[in-house]
Amino acid sequence: MMQQAYDVLKNTFGYDQFRAPQDQIIQALLNNEDAFVLMPTGGGKSLCYQIPALVRNGIGIVISPLIALMQDQVDALTQAGIRAACVNSSMPNSHNAQVEQQALQGQLDIIYLAPERLTLARTLDWLHRCQLSLFAIDEAHCVSQWGHDFRSDYLQLSLLQQSFPTIPRIALTATADNKTREEIIFRLGLQNAKIFVSGFDRPNIQYRITLKNNPKAQLLNFIQTEHPNQAGVVYCLSRKKVESTAQWLATQGINALPYHAGLDKNVRQQNQQRFLREESIVMVATIAFGMGIDKPDVRFVAHLDLPKSIEAYYQETGRAGRDGQAANAWMAYGLEDVIKLKQMMAGSDGDEQFKRIEQQKLSSMLGLAELTDCRRRLLIQYFGDDLSNHYPDPKHCGNCDNCITPVKTWDATEAARKALSCVFRTDQRFGTVHVINVLRGKLTEKIKQFNHQNVSTFGIGSDLSEGQWRSLFRQLVAHGYLKVNYDYGQLSLDESSRGLLKGSDQLTLRLDTFDKHKASNSQKVKQQDTEIQPQEQGLWQALRDCRTLLAREQGIAPFMIFHDSTLRSMLALKPKNLDEFSTLSGVGQMKLERYGSAFVKAVQDFNPS
Ligand code: ADP
Ligand code: ZN
Repeated sequence: MMQQAYDVLKNTFGYDQFRAPQDQIIQALLNNEDAFVLMPTGGGKSLCYQIPALVRNGIGIVISPLIALMQDQVDALTQAGIRAACVNSSMPNSHNAQVEQQALQGQLDIIYLAPERLTLARTLDWLHRCQLSLFAIDEAHCVSQWGHDFRSDYLQLSLLQQSFPTIPRIALTATADNKTREEIIFRLGLQNAKIFVSGFDRPNIQYRITLKNNPKAQLLNFIQTEHPNQAGVVYCLSRKKVESTAQWLATQGINALPYHAGLDKNVRQQNQQRFLREESIVMVATIAFGMGIDKPDVRFVAHLDLPKSIEAYYQETGRAGRDGQAANAWMAYGLEDVIKLKQMMAGSDGDEQFKRIEQQKLSSMLGLAELTDCRRRLLIQYFGDDLSNHYPDPKHCGNCDNCITPVKTWDATEAARKALSCVFRTDQRFGTVHVINVLRGKLTEKIKQFNHQNVSTFGIGSDLSEGQWRSLFRQLVAHGYLKVNYDYGQLSLDESSRGLLKGSDQLTLRLDTFDKHKASNSQKVKQQDTEIQPQEQGLWQALRDCRTLLAREQGIAPFMIFHDSTLRSMLALKPKNLDEFSTLSGVGQMKLERYGSAFVKAVQDFNPS
């Protein structure tokens, strides 16, 4: 049966090889075993259930929480010649009834099913009358109350094991932490499943965290210089900021649209649709946008606010570059972010244990932001993987800002001591602005009001600029030496600062650069293969146009015709006939027949030779 799996890979999907461990996963399902798959976004999870569903007799049922995207997934499979359909509440009853009928007659290979349908007695009855090949539970972390995408409907999925004991089940997720993993296995009854955990590296994503000074302008500069006419996502914390940022980008000539849970449902859907269907939309969004955004060619993810945890950061940045082509994860970060998040957490409800966990997660995220060496190393270690599994140098990935431009550090022991004692001398009742004014000896109204010109730390910090002090305070808060009160952001000393105050501890910190012009883009490096050579631009555009035209005719997204990676191989090979065309990665039988001649013609029209 494995030979059949290879044939499907080649003939239907147009790929030559499985990526490890796709073949082992498929093998397990073909052997009637259950599987649990933890693989990063873009790793290639879909083929792990699609191919066995095609090879085994019967229909593969895919449970997915992403109802709004089901039709797209069906469209993409249909393009490859697969008989797919979906059943969910957003579809008319007549559609769902028709799918049920086709399934009973064995006319379908794959059905996407919303989890809430599964619990209906009539759905179960229907499924029992169909011949089924497997159940795939996509986004399986939704079953975990610990994780951040919990869906109560997912709890019902435990019934699959009891109701269909002979049908193999495969659960898939990209969410990594151990607790979530254990909960998935427990709740879905996968104790006997084969476990496949892939490494967590996303080598094609370049991670960069830059200091905020004028975030909007920095963002615009980043998009204009590195991602003109490309698709990307910009994450902001609040709805208001989403709206204002999207509007502003639009006035600057960027194709930007807003997305957040407060928008009218139709607007939201329309914007998401445009993001998928068009080539160069920048979606400015809250975290409401994203789970399962199945768009392979998102070229960048930018953060204007700090995510609350490394899990969230990695999941959000992971939406870039699913197609394996070079992509950027860019973030602007500053003192305000640290204060705001610390305040939010201090004021959040929830029991002590919950708060403590939230604080720990935030601290790890702040640690990443303040890191002075390889970011990827920390990221993948956080998920229990190791850089040395993927790179020759166990300390440098070569594709993050700190690896590309090594960070300078300075001995901040003395300055930190001044800062901490100033917080103490002013009774731990003030925020950074005031404490910095005291340190720098600025005689403001507030200082006069509280008589702070008379404290012993008044003016002892005039040797550093305001920016340098802000940098220091940011790092003191980020590293946990200072706590932030949730009412007004008053600073107070953490227990851990004692050693510094007493002079027994040393502190080395990042040396931030304050050069406005250099701050955002000094770390830009050209990645191999991101940019199309100038002499190839014309043909590249012609191929993109051909793809867009074909997609429009059918009302589907261009990437459903061919991914960028396939277009790139066309650019390299310049196929002269269908035979040559058929060798391209991503060209299966169906697409060869339907689109081969259009693209071959586009190449020939451009290069008549
Ligand atoms: P995930 O669901 O894990 O995020 P996908 O299933 O969407 O990942 O796959 C990511 C990308 O990799 C898709 O563009 C897919 O076509 C491609 N891909 C998956 N498996 C292979 C393979 N064996 N060879 C080439 N490309 C692959
Ligand atoms: Zn690195």
